Amino acid sequence: MAKYFLTTPIYYVNASPHIGHMYTGIAADVLARHYRAQGRDVLLSTGVDENSQKNVEAAEKQHMPVQQYVDAMADTWKKAFDDMDITYDTFFRTTSEEHKSAVQAMIAAMQAKGDIYLGDYTGYYCVGCEEFKAEKDLIEGKCPTHKTEPNIIKEKNYFFKLSNYRDHLLKWYEDFPNAVQPTSARNKMLSYITDEMEDISISRQSQAWGIRFPKDEEHAVYVWFDALINYLTVTGYPNNGYEKWWPVDVHLIGKDIIKFHCAIWPAMLLSAGLDLPNTIFAHGFFTVNGEKISKSLGNAIDPMQLVQQYSKDVLRYYVLREIPFGSDGDFSFDRLRQRYNGELANGLGNLVSRTLAMVEKYQVVIENPEEISQQGQEMIKKVGGYIEKFSFDKALAEVWIFIAHLDDVIDSAKPWELAKEGKTEDIARVLTEVVQGIAAIGKALHALLPDTSQSIRELVVAQPIKKPSQPLFARKD
Ligand SMILES: [Zn+2]
Repeated sequence: MAKYFLTTPIYYVNASPHIGHMYTGIAADVLARHYRAQGRDVLLSTGVDENSQKNVEAAEKQHMPVQQYVDAMADTWKKAFDDMDITYDTFFRTTSEEHKSAVQAMIAAMQAKGDIYLGDYTGYYCVGCEEFKAEKDLIEGKCPTHKTEPNIIKEKNYFFKLSNYRDHLLKWYEDFPNAVQPTSARNKMLSYITDEMEDISISRQSQAWGIRFPKDEEHAVYVWFDALINYLTVTGYPNNGYEKWWPVDVHLIGKDIIKFHCAIWPAMLLSAGLDLPNTIFAHGFFTVNGEKISKSLGNAIDPMQLVQQYSKDVLRYYVLREIPFGSDGDFSFDRLRQRYNGELANGLGNLVSRTLAMVEKYQVVIENPEEISQQGQEMIKKVGGYIEKFSFDKALAEVWIFIAHLDDVIDSAKPWELAKEGKTEDIARVLTEVVQGIAAIGKALHALLPDTSQSIRELVVAQPIKKPSQPLFARKD
């Protein structure tokens, strides 16, 4: 059976998940559900990045031992993904023993290649970003994201000869033009690799928390370097059998971490003699009132609050439909309500309610409710094609075109007029077409809106078919 291996980033556990994290999870879940339905053997990996200095600071604030803190936070994050029904196969934790072994094996492979050396590092480090900064990255001496002054660091570090891989990376970009998507991310990285990429520090001296550098206990492996390797650990690397999953089919990431995933990570893989990812897809950001969502700015939206107010599927619908995957967008509660009332309540919900009410009223027996017409099959195929291209907004739009088509079928046939004329066969023909169309919609929404898909299926296979006791989406004013 063909495999499909996909990952989300792993998240720092120093704060609770917000809607931005769930966004990647939802997209990953759509792909995983889609490919499972195609019969592929799917591995969806998500999880948490625990070796960060940020976690140490957060634990100190809570007066907790770091391990105890990360254990508790890992549970919080796992629960958040569970509550959203994100169907991950592995919830990865970087404090696991397997991960330590994988990181050390990878470093050993890179050392054997002669790509790692000890050198002096002097420069800036932002703990908020967990990133070394160049002078030009700072605005008025501060990290532009965290608005704080970075630490000045002067220490011995191990370095990775990233600059050795410039030509090889550029050739990979040229040979596989779809490996890094969307084009905006690809172009940024091409210019970074060509003009800016330098060797990077991959260890921190005298840092107690973190994975030990092989044969040099004094150094901790730089947290990003360790975190990236999670994608390999989860396949079983370096043990036999990891080749079943590696190379990854897609890494889904946010556009803030493209440098790590689209330059550093592929170079690490090349150095260790491993295959490169098939696809790395960077999605855009939600802003709330034009600002990046962050705890420190106080504008983080708790996804569960929206789920309680609406439902999981409504949240999925909104984020997937509103913002083309790969572009930026703004989160607006007004837009959410508009789309909810217009497209879910009045669109899909109303079509299902009025159709099934007529079936009940005119006592029509639908012989094969799940038989899918040519047109329905074409729609399902298009939806699947868009999902595979990460165009979730277009996939949903395609379903809504079909909803409009079914509304047209009803409005032009006017079953209520046919009833007055006693044309029962015509009523049955029209309503069968529409019910089968609704069943096709249920099937098309399987990966996108799983709960709605399930509800639709239950409604159309019921005997006799009845108007739903409550609408799929009740209007909210
Ligand atoms: Zn920062």
